[in-house]
Amino acid sequence: MCPTDAHKEARAPPSRAADGPGLVLGPSVALMFIDVQDDFIRGSLAVPGGEALLPLLNALAAAVAAAGGAVAASQDYHPPDHVSFVSSHPGRQPFDTVQVEVGGCSWPIKLFPPHCVAGSPGAEFAEGFDRQHVQHVVRKGRQAGLESFSAFYDMAHTGCTDLADWLRQRGVRTVLVCGVATEYCVGATVLDGLAEGFETVLLTDAVAGVDEVASRGAITEMQRAGATLMRGAELLEMSRAGAAAAEGSSKAAAAGQAQPQAAELRKEQ
Ligand SMILES: [Zn+2]
Repeated sequence: MCPTDAHKEARAPPSRAADGPGLVLGPSVALMFIDVQDDFIRGSLAVPGGEALLPLLNALAAAVAAAGGAVAASQDYHPPDHVSFVSSHPGRQPFDTVQVEVGGCSWPIKLFPPHCVAGSPGAEFAEGFDRQHVQHVVRKGRQAGLESFSAFYDMAHTGCTDLADWLRQRGVRTVLVCGVATEYCVGATVLDGLAEGFETVLLTDAVAGVDEVASRGAITEMQRAGATLMRGAELLEMSRAGAAAAEGSSKAAAAGQAQPQAAELRKEQ
């Protein structure tokens, strides 16, 4: 069942826990991987720069999980005759835009080479992506006639995934978004995450887009909608510094010389 607007209004406003450098990893901060799949990393619709993200993505998953945060991942997961496939529209070219009917309305969609067909190797998580910390997988775009960029809803919001409920059940207030592609599924997920009431953070060095100009425009739109922009590398550095301070503090406490560095660090952030 999809959330209604009334449901959204009833929720508390998002916390400011993720106000740039003030973000502290913990159980209320989740990491969302968008479409880190073979076809988008090395396959039929490979996103430039996508493969280079993998080490950072893996490090982020380890850091978020170590702090007790939830880690989820989406997969584009289409039937072979999906409406977004150029092969479903004879005479059309990849990246053409066509109108499709959904729920009595006409929606523009972009056509792509066939990708992420359910059950095919291209739909699997990319080789080199360490999914050991992924606790929940959202498969989207499973209906032939519906495009679904966002990990929360299909394009026409006629249906939703279980992602928002899954996050809320874990007490998540802040969602860190990374993966591919910036101007498509990443952007749609960030905007829907904000609409769902989550403090939503785009990790700018942990995303890659198909088109540079369109990606920049999408990031501007996300920021205007309320998304926080942050570098994943910076988050990792802060996480390591916080852990080191906490370790130093506990060692000092064990030695009978309690020092408050960890608490002070968190307060400053
Ligand atoms: Zn797709």
